Amino acid sequence: MSVRPQPTRVVFLGGLGRSGTTLLERLLGELPGCVALGEVVHLWARGVLADEACGCGEPFGACPFWLKVGDRAFGGWSAERAERVLELRRRVDRTRRIPGLARLLAEERAGAGAWRSPTVTEELGEYATAYRRLYEAAAEVADSPLVVDSSKHASLAFCLAAAGVDVHVVHVVRDPRAVAHSWRRRVARPEDGTPMTIWSPARTSMHWLTQNLGLELLAREGVPVTRIRYEDLLGSPARTLRRLAAGLGVRPSLGFLGDGEAELSVAHTASGNPVRFTVGRIGLTRDDGWRTGAPPRQRSLVTALTWPLMLKYDYPWRLS
Ligand SMILES: [Zn+2]
Repeated sequence: MSVRPQPTRVVFLGGLGRSGTTLLERLLGELPGCVALGEVVHLWARGVLADEACGCGEPFGACPFWLKVGDRAFGGWSAERAERVLELRRRVDRTRRIPGLARLLAEERAGAGAWRSPTVTEELGEYATAYRRLYEAAAEVADSPLVVDSSKHASLAFCLAAAGVDVHVVHVVRDPRAVAHSWRRRVARPEDGTPMTIWSPARTSMHWLTQNLGLELLAREGVPVTRIRYEDLLGSPARTLRRLAAGLGVRPSLGFLGDGEAELSVAHTASGNPVRFTVGRIGLTRDDGWRTGAPPRQRSLVTALTWPLMLKYDYPWRLS
């Protein structure tokens, strides 16, 4: 085992799905000292229990990286542990619990330190400990001080921060009209060929608002949060990644970036969108298909439901 001089730091990619978090995670995973883990929130069910494929192509239970991580973190993976984490998730890691978690976080920061409910303290502590042990083991196995978790959900970021995990949130936003268009599309999961979830534009708008407001609240509670716009990442990848690397204290070695493309190595991401399986060259092009592909009524509905935050993130009301 190598000796690492620094403690494990967690970069948590937050935001609503279809906003470019998986792609950003893959790019961050190419930076020195960073290892991309995928959506750890889904590792327990999809990796440990369902044995879906790791980003390297091996089934989770046969991936040499995750075998080592499981051994170091828990003395091996077990269905019992995964089911326990999932049970705890249902109890503490819920979007509707964000206001309560924010209160706990504020009390901790103020030094009050008095959790109101011992049950919440214990369950939250046990839940966050599973993640902490996984992150630390992954950092050791990869010999990287920084682990990237693209779980996205604001509620999990709150759980980790409230339990004292050293977490830096990268809040990824994308034009809600593009996100809504993406969630309407029929896409098959490469893991098993089943269709990915489809949401109506109204439902996507509600989720977009909830997740983004949750992450705004997290920043107000003093957790480090850096916001990245999908459109800036794809428009100026080098500049955006350099800025992000500086904020995270990582050396900005961007040799894997070319002109409008990137060269990706194998990543052991436990879950995420299909980009997690890509190895080799990948084009970095903005997907603006929604501008012509989405019906105008759908775009107007999304705008009507999300406009205050949409304007805050510099998305113009009218399309040029
Ligand atoms: Zn793997």
